This record gives sequence, structure tokens and C-alpha cells, in this order.
Amino acid sequence: MQVVVVGAGFGGIASAALLAKRGAHVKVVERLSTPGGRARTTAIEGFKFDMGPSWYLMPEVFERFFNELGYSVSQFYEITKLKPSFRLKVNGASLDVPPGDELFSTVEHVERGAGETMREYLEMTKYMYDVSLSKFLYREFQSFVDFLDPQVIREARRLNLFTSLNYLNSKYFKSDLLRKLTGFSAVFLGGDPYSVPGMYAMVNYPVLGQGVFYPRGGFGRVVESMVEAGRKLGVEFQFDTEVTGVLTDDQRVKALQTSKGRIEGDVFLFNADYVHAESLLPERYRNFGASYWDSKVLAPSAVLGYVGIKGELDVPHHNVIVNGDWGEHFKSIREGKWPRTESTSYYVSVRSRSDPSVCPEGNEALFFLIPISPGLRGREEEMVKWAVRNFLGKREVSFIRIFGPRDFWNDYRSYKGTAFGLAHTLSQTASLRPPMKNKKLRNVYYVGQYTHPGVGVPMVAIAAHVVSQRILADLKK
Ligand SMILES: Cc1cc2nc3c(=O)[nH]c(=O)nc-3n(C[C@H](O)[C@H](O)[C@H](O)COP(=O)(O)OP(=O)(O)OC[C@H]3O[C@@H](n4cnc5c(N)ncnc54)[C@H](O)[C@@H]3O)c2cc1C
Repeated sequence: MQVVVVGAGFGGIASAALLAKRGAHVKVVERLSTPGGRARTTAIEGFKFDMGPSWYLMPEVFERFFNELGYSVSQFYEITKLKPSFRLKVNGASLDVPPGDELFSTVEHVERGAGETMREYLEMTKYMYDVSLSKFLYREFQSFVDFLDPQVIREARRLNLFTSLNYLNSKYFKSDLLRKLTGFSAVFLGGDPYSVPGMYAMVNYPVLGQGVFYPRGGFGRVVESMVEAGRKLGVEFQFDTEVTGVLTDDQRVKALQTSKGRIEGDVFLFNADYVHAESLLPERYRNFGASYWDSKVLAPSAVLGYVGIKGELDVPHHNVIVNGDWGEHFKSIREGKWPRTESTSYYVSVRSRSDPSVCPEGNEALFFLIPISPGLRGREEEMVKWAVRNFLGKREVSFIRIFGPRDFWNDYRSYKGTAFGLAHTLSQTASLRPPMKNKKLRNVYYVGQYTHPGVGVPMVAIAAHVVSQRILADLKK
């Protein structure tokens, strides 16, 4: 059986390796010249950057992925727990968030009684996280009925399905700093704490309960490792090849049309952005039309800045900076407007603090991320330069390279330049996310951050597990 995967993002690479392990011949076709998609790497003036993900969370998901291939993570790369996990700055108030039990005494200094409350909060989020891993994440939801698991119905309230993350957090914590500490993780889900359901507080278990890890060599090394594992199992990669259309026959795709000629196969798995992937199919075979996508809540786009500076900084690896009213920033994202700089929050990764090998000695490599509404154009440079000044003050900068919504389209063919795909609202969860199987073409599937379970590298690795199981089960039929 020949499987052709379109796109070498995490979803494509991981699915390819899993299918090859089960005996399929797999070819991955990628338009860019390197693997990783949003997680690829770049080098600027001797500084190395991971272009997208930097928070390595849910390590057991990576371990399970490599175990399914017959390997373990440690055969490819080493992970270390960061201390502090990250720094949160809210309008000048600063909190270095430690991993482990030290977190309880740290938050007690912020709010009286918060140590004990945090313990309870993390017990609750651990419960949600464990239920999610064992019941929801690793399975496909083909219809809403599948979602009506007896445990979910029984415990809908305990799982906080019908409240917002913000509402849930405000029942536990009074201080602004701790509400923000337990709210910012909504951004990992392509949303905000006001619209993301309370059950996604489960993400706070990996962030605050398990701790944040650094994979030695960065996410670039994680990508390379998955590619290496895939190659050992026989996966073939073809880069610099853009898929431009498909040839169909009797409700099946027979071949892909690409910039380098035709590629035939038995099964076609699209890891390219869902909307773009569907645009490659004849209209009558698409799962959804334009009105469906217009009705969806997209996750934000982002303006990114890759920055090099001379001299060392006294900051941790991960820095979350909240400026002014973050409600106003989230509102600007929902309303399709640029945020006012007075109310612009952003994230900075200073990877060179954990890994000095990423830049020349005595320098620092910084990555800035400002979430913005998809589809915006025009103020990318101004926003990044503002954030750089806000974070670094008058310090001299060696270079700033900017990446914005237009680049998300140019490089990844991303719908409206969204960075994170579809937001995780209740109506875009489980069976309500776009399906992994084309409804009209018998041999076409989809995998990536648009499908269940959603946004983030571990989620996409889980999606790869789910779709490869589905493909194998369909073939058995
Ligand atoms: C800035 C940023 C920061 C992030 N931070 C984190 C983080 O800290 N931790 C975390 O876990 N997650 C993070 N994420 C999310 C995570 O990176 C993504 O959810 C995940 O990498 C998406 O993988 P994917 O396989 O769905 O898609 P992609 O990575 O987009 O891969 C799709 C691939 O398809 C290719 N393609 C598209 N069209 C075609 C075509 N016509 N022909 C051939 N190939 C095509 C693209 O070039 C691309 O390589 C971040 C994302 C971004 C953008």
C-alpha cells in the first residue's frame, strides 16, 4: 500500500512514521525545502532559531509516540526541566514560576491561602488531564454521539465543560496575577480565557504541575528525530515539491499533481492546512464550502520577531509579558483590529539562556511572539520593534527579522494567515472539529492542528496516532 502524505509538519511526519511502522510504503511531499512546517528552524547571522514552538509540554505524549515506533525519546534527544518554568510579568509585577512543590510557597506570597488553593486546583486539572488522555485525546470522534461518553455526561460539571476558563479560575484565585497565571495557557489553544471552555484548564496541569521541558537542540531536534525515526522505517521525503491539485476517479484520488510531476498512491493524507488542502480538491469533493470556514472561530495569527543581541541578559528562557488590559488585547483579536501598544501582551523565548550553542558566545537569541487577529497587514514591524524596546529597553540590537500573517500564508498556505488554525471553543471540540476523513473521497484523510484534538505539537502528534489507526482500520474493511 502506497500512502502519500502532503506536508512535512509534525502531523505529516508523525503519521508517516506510524503508518510505515505498520507496513505501509509512505512518501511525504513538502513544498518547503526542510521539514517541520511551523516548527522548522532558521539561522540568521550565526544565530539559530526555532521558528515556531518553544514550550515542550506533555512529555509522555512524545514518549508514547517514539515507543509506538519501537524507540524511546532518549535514543534521539535529551529533555531537561526548566527552572524557573517561566517568568510571568503583569504590568510590572513579576513572578518566577518554579516547577514542583515550590510553586505552592511561591503563590502563597502572592495571595494568602493560594498555596493550598493551587494544590486543589492542580489536583482538579490533573484529574481533567488524566481523563482527557485516557478517554478523549487518543480517539476519533466521528459523530457527536461518540462525545456523549457516560463519564462525560456524569461529570460534565466536574470537567467544567460549560463554564469559561476565566470563570473557573476566578472561583479559585482572587489576585490578578494568579488569575493571569492560570489563564494565559488559553493562548496555547488558540483562544483566550474568556472563550475557551473551563475543561481546558487541564492544560495547566502540564504547564504548572508537570513543568516545562527543554529538548536539547530545540524543537528543530524534535523534528529531525521524528524524520530520522521515519526514515529508519522506510519513509521517503520529497522536499521543494508543491501539490497543486489531484486527479480523481470513481470517488478516489488516483494521483497528486505537483510542481515536480504526478505522484500516484492508494491513500492520500493531507497535513497541509485544512482549508488549503480542500482547495486542492475538485469543489464537489470538498467536505466544506467557504460559508463553513467563514462561520468558524479562527485561532489568532501572530507577528514574530527573531532577534539577536550582543551581551547577556538576566532573564529566564520563557517570559510571558502582560501589558495593560489583556481583555482589550483579546477583544482586538476577536474584532480583527490591531491592539493598542498600551494593551499589548507578548511572549519572549530567550533560548540561549538554556542552550548557549544557539548563538555566538556572549550574545543572546530572542524570539518574540505577539498574538494578533488573522488577516491583519501593515503594522508588523512597528509592533515587533515596540515589543523589543518594551522588553530590552535601550539595549542595542544586532538584528530583527520579522515574520507575520502574510508569511504564514506564503510559507505554509495558512488560511487568512492564522498561526494556530482553529480556536478551541466548545463548538469546535472533538467531533465538532473538521473530520479526519473526506466524506466523499474514499481514500482521502486530514491530519494536523485543525483536526481533533487540536493545536500544539503534542496534540498534533496525537492526531497522527488517531488518523493512522483510522486509515489502517479502513483498509482492513
Ligand atoms: C509561532 C508559533 C508558536 C507555537 N508555539 C508552540 C509551543 O510552544 N508548543 C507547542 O506545543 N505548540 C506550539 N505551536 C503550535 C504547533 O507548532 C502547531 O500546532 C504544529 O506545529 C502544527 O503542525 P501541523 O502538522 O498541523 O501543521 P504545519 O506545521 O503547518 O505543517 C503543514 C505543512 O504542510 C506544507 N504544505 C502546505 N501546503 C502544501 C502543498 N500544497 N504542497 C506541499 N506541502 C504543503 C507546509 O509547508 C507545512 O510544512 C506554535 C505555533 C506557532 C505558529
